[in-house]
Amino acid sequence: MSKKEFALTVEDLSVSFDGFKAVDSLNLYVDQNELRVIIGPNGAGKTTLLDLICGKTRASAGRITFKGAEMTTLPEFQIVRSGIGRKLQTPSIYENLSVFQNLEVSFPRGRGVFGALFFKTNDEVMARVDAVAAEIGMADQLAVEAGLLSHGQKQWLEIGMLLMQDPELLMLDEPIAGMSVRERELTAELLKRICKGRAMIVIEHDMEFVKRIADKVTVMHQGKILAEGSMDKVQADPRVIDVYLGH
Ligand code: ADP
Ligand code: MG
Repeated sequence: MSKKEFALTVEDLSVSFDGFKAVDSLNLYVDQNELRVIIGPNGAGKTTLLDLICGKTRASAGRITFKGAEMTTLPEFQIVRSGIGRKLQTPSIYENLSVFQNLEVSFPRGRGVFGALFFKTNDEVMARVDAVAAEIGMADQLAVEAGLLSHGQKQWLEIGMLLMQDPELLMLDEPIAGMSVRERELTAELLKRICKGRAMIVIEHDMEFVKRIADKVTVMHQGKILAEGSMDKVQADPRVIDVYLGH
């Protein structure tokens, strides 16, 4: 299989903090339309890996390509423009704006061929807001002030804000932390809905949740990949049980 068929390729990627290798010669290949879950103990380097992919942290060695294009040294905004969206652990929504406004301001306003800003018509923006609101299950909350939403709804809204840009790779870091059981179920359904037509990387600890959503699971430990494959395969791996699942 040629590399071009992967959405994301990460090869021999490393980064050190004060001599400590947080990510250590890591290789990762994510298919188009794949939902990959990354698990592993605290400090394994999972968040750092996402920081590297989205350009927030610079690699000390290795290569990242997306749809065949080099991402390794691109500035963050260009990585976003290439189609990579990333959600942090804490929601960053505008609390004093409505759900509708939060989605509306997240609509990408690009530059045309002559460098001038071009604005989408209202109809286009409205249609996109409606579609995204339906995808995140918040069509009935469009008028609600975001600060009044539940913790789970705030997380969904932030996912919606990322969806406004229609990313081809969407990365979520512990999206269900702090959620109720019901919110976790709804989030699993939400992720299954939004993964159609794009690749996703989700970092999560809740194994019931992982089982529900993952196409394939990657287990990280000490900056490296310890195991990779189906949920059943990694769950049965003695090394994974030893460093992670057994605790
Ligand atoms: P995980 O998300 O798997 O819990 P992290 O990627 O957050 O792990 O962290 C991996 C290791 O790298 C930890 O030991 C953490 O303290 C360290 N680390 C992460 N970011 C930085 C940074 N900017 N500066 C120094 N050390 C960092
Ligand atoms: Mg983390």
